[in-house]
Amino acid sequence: MNFHIMTLFPDMVLNGLGTSITGRAMERGILNIEAVNIRDYTLDRHLHVDDAPYGGGAGMVMQPEPVYRAYEALRERIGRKPRVLYMTPQGKVFSQEIARELAKEEDLVFLCGHYEGVDERVLDMIVTDYLSIGDYVLTGGELPAMVMIDCISRLVPGVLNNRESAEIETFHDNLLEYPQYTRPENFMGHRVPEVLLSGHHANVDRWRRQQSLIRTAERRPDLLEKACLTREDKAFLAAYRQEQEEKIPSGKIKKSL
Ligand code: SAM
Repeated sequence: MNFHIMTLFPDMVLNGLGTSITGRAMERGILNIEAVNIRDYTLDRHLHVDDAPYGGGAGMVMQPEPVYRAYEALRERIGRKPRVLYMTPQGKVFSQEIARELAKEEDLVFLCGHYEGVDERVLDMIVTDYLSIGDYVLTGGELPAMVMIDCISRLVPGVLNNRESAEIETFHDNLLEYPQYTRPENFMGHRVPEVLLSGHHANVDRWRRQQSLIRTAERRPDLLEKACLTREDKAFLAAYRQEQEEKIPSGKIKKSL
């Protein structure tokens, strides 16, 4: 899979993504991540890429020309019009579902804004998707692009050693993952749950499913509404909720489960 990041700070994205799992996948040729320096495409002799906003106001705006020229060079190299994702707090909030959809593409272009953002005209001309990583404002689109690329990469076959690990973790089926434990068996008096030491796979699977249900009900009840629950899951949750209600002394506010 090919990721092309249009940015004013190529080192930032390449240093980050060249590390650990994504870095290894790049070395093995499974991922190809390139940074396109927008500044290389300015025609300004002082290499300026931004200017003051028309109409006044604070900050600087990235000019359309270098962005457009960088995009055109990329489009020519790719050989067709690619999907261009503009990183913006005004976009649709990125999710595991969006990641799964994007992972099907061969090429993805990430456009990173900086300062007050990018001139609207070039956005209208080249952007196919407006994406955000959450309802807060960052200084640039580089971290959002890295977050999305990291997440999408994990879904590309061969990037993770064990394909299973991307398939049964948090958000798969709209459930949070069960708790994980490793050695030692006893850490400062806190023991690993007995069932995990039993070697009984069916019991381990059942325990993990139940933990996943409890965790989602406690931490992200909103996800449960979209989760695909079996009759057994629903019965377990009902019993768990009942048990919790009974534990809360009367007169106290009940936790909304
Ligand atoms: N003036 C813009 C606005 O109010 O929508 C915010 C500009 S922000 C300071 C600079 C750049 O950071 C944006 O162009 C965008 O690329 C990136 N950015 C900031 N917050 C983001 C977020 N939550 N998700 C994705 N990109 C973000």
